[in-house]
Amino acid sequence: MQRIASKWRRTGIKVGLVPTMGYLHDGHISLVRAARRRVGPAGRVVLSIYVNPTQFGPTEDLSKYPRDLKRDLAMCRTEGVDAVFVPGAGEMYADLNASVSRPEAFSTYVVEEKLSRSMEGASRPVHFRGVTTVVAKLFNIVQPDIAIFGQKDFQQAAIIRRMVRDLNIPVQIVVAPTRREADGLAMSSRNKYLDQEQRSQATILFHALQAVAVAVRRRTQSATGLQKDLRKFIEAAPLAKLDYVAFFDPETLEPVARVEPGVHVALAVYFGKTRLIDNVRL
Ligand code: AMP
Repeated sequence: MQRIASKWRRTGIKVGLVPTMGYLHDGHISLVRAARRRVGPAGRVVLSIYVNPTQFGPTEDLSKYPRDLKRDLAMCRTEGVDAVFVPGAGEMYADLNASVSRPEAFSTYVVEEKLSRSMEGASRPVHFRGVTTVVAKLFNIVQPDIAIFGQKDFQQAAIIRRMVRDLNIPVQIVVAPTRREADGLAMSSRNKYLDQEQRSQATILFHALQAVAVAVRRRTQSATGLQKDLRKFIEAAPLAKLDYVAFFDPETLEPVARVEPGVHVALAVYFGKTRLIDNVRL
């Protein structure tokens, strides 16, 4: 991949990268289309598929993460993706499991230290270190002019923007809107884990976000009051267990005490072992 990417760069071909963990859905495809719009017909759209071990905690779903490479490749072909980069297990991390004293052990990480502390970072301690590290590696391999991320993972996109700014990485970051199922559930590869009953209750995330948006349009409210209301609202769905709900400034990700239009709200909800996330700007 790196050789082809270097040739594109030398010949001035514009490259757009869509990093994914595969098991593609229409949310991913919307990012591919956004990339194509930006690089134009003469540019190249690259989609990477890599279930990155360093962003999963020891008790998370790395080994069970859904995979269907054949179907993913067919979807990419239909969408006119120019290259699909599917690194093998040993290709990204020389030897992740080797002890650090061995010379072949992988030992360099990219760590963002502010935006990654709250929300997903608080619930998933090693997650963002893995994300920033693998995205930095993908940028070095694919050398894209632009990279497209989904608003569905709002905090992730903010952290990548910060990494690119802080480390002077010459890639333009574009954030594309969240694609939803007809009933409002944000599309996600993890929706596959839900059984029928969980799936029907999972719309509670979207309904909760909509209810807050309506309430906040009527009048400014306190974040703690809204957090309590939202917990009640969500746990009225018997299979739902709220992990967190956060109200924050969309630029700094700092929590706010007063919630008014323009503030961002994000939440994470468990259905059994499956953890779903969603967010909107109010
Ligand atoms: P993933 O494969 O879940 O790591 O996601 C790869 C990229 O697709 C990330 O930038 C996600 O934010 C984005 N993405 C995931 N779900 C959606 C969605 N429903 N709508 C738009 N983008 C999404």
